[in-house]
Amino acid sequence: MKKKTVFIYAAGATVLLAAFAALGYQYTVLDSRFQTLETQAAQLQESNSSLNSQLEAASVQLKENMSQLEDNASKLKEQEEYMEGQKDYISQLSEQIDSFTEGDTDGEDGGEAWEYDPSQDAYPDLYAATKEDAPKVGTKYVYLTFDDGPSPLTPKVLDLLDEYNAKATFFVVQKNNEEYEEYLSEIVKRGHVLALHSYSHNYNEIYRSVDAFLADYEKVYDWVKEKTGYTPSLFRFPGGSNNGSSYVGHQIIKEMTRRGFTYFDWSVSSGDGSNLTTTQNIIDNICTHVGTVELPIVLMHDGSGKEATLAALPSVLKYLSEEGYEFRSLDQYVEPVQFRKASSIE
Ligand SMILES: [Zn+2]
Repeated sequence: MKKKTVFIYAAGATVLLAAFAALGYQYTVLDSRFQTLETQAAQLQESNSSLNSQLEAASVQLKENMSQLEDNASKLKEQEEYMEGQKDYISQLSEQIDSFTEGDTDGEDGGEAWEYDPSQDAYPDLYAATKEDAPKVGTKYVYLTFDDGPSPLTPKVLDLLDEYNAKATFFVVQKNNEEYEEYLSEIVKRGHVLALHSYSHNYNEIYRSVDAFLADYEKVYDWVKEKTGYTPSLFRFPGGSNNGSSYVGHQIIKEMTRRGFTYFDWSVSSGDGSNLTTTQNIIDNICTHVGTVELPIVLMHDGSGKEATLAALPSVLKYLSEEGYEFRSLDQYVEPVQFRKASSIE
């Protein structure tokens, strides 16, 4: 090979190498620019998406505000309608006032004034219920009351009362009498008044406080209600309303009256509280005292062991009935006999 040719090849190779080197350098520069651009593009995308979400939140808020505004508008409309209604109402009222002040009594609308004429009453039976057997003037009533039952004596007392078509009042005690509870319904069924006397009849227990009294009373009240379906509204304090301390007694009376219960003491005692009282004593006590009081409410017992009372009962019923007495049950319309008066307690 000639020297010249070699030189030409060498020069050609050198030029090629230089060209490659230049291209390589260009490539590196371009690559790094490309990377920078890519990073910038990613940053842009990021800020773009954050802007998007801000935009979305703003549009939600806007929607909310719109609906709030709509709400307010409809409320405003309601208020307007209400005001209109009030205006109408007020104008109706002033019309009415005008017609009153004009003294419109002669029936401008053509109606006639109603006047009751007993001979023309087309509805003789259309009357609200009243106390149909309210005490009549000149009638003698006696109210027999039996405390401390029910007991084995109760059915016999009921039979004797039936013989005279006599109605009475039974103030019952629950404790120790539960085995005779079937007689509670019998008392009601035969038309007598079932009233309460306490659960325990224990003075120390029930007169300790208002709460102690109410707790005891609730027991016997629930018992009678459950066994008979009848809700008693009358009661008698064990030992009478002046039993126990007067301070607690007043509080109990106040609370029981507030609850709508009425209590009855008595005006004639048969004396049968003591087991020493004989049958004849009982008859005498009742028959000699009934005529001396205005409202004879007779205290007797049909608790266990009161055989003397049961034995006295036929004579008592016979005597009083011959004297023209009607035997009645107590009710809330009877003016109660009370040793400690509920009406005097504020
Ligand atoms: Zn008693």
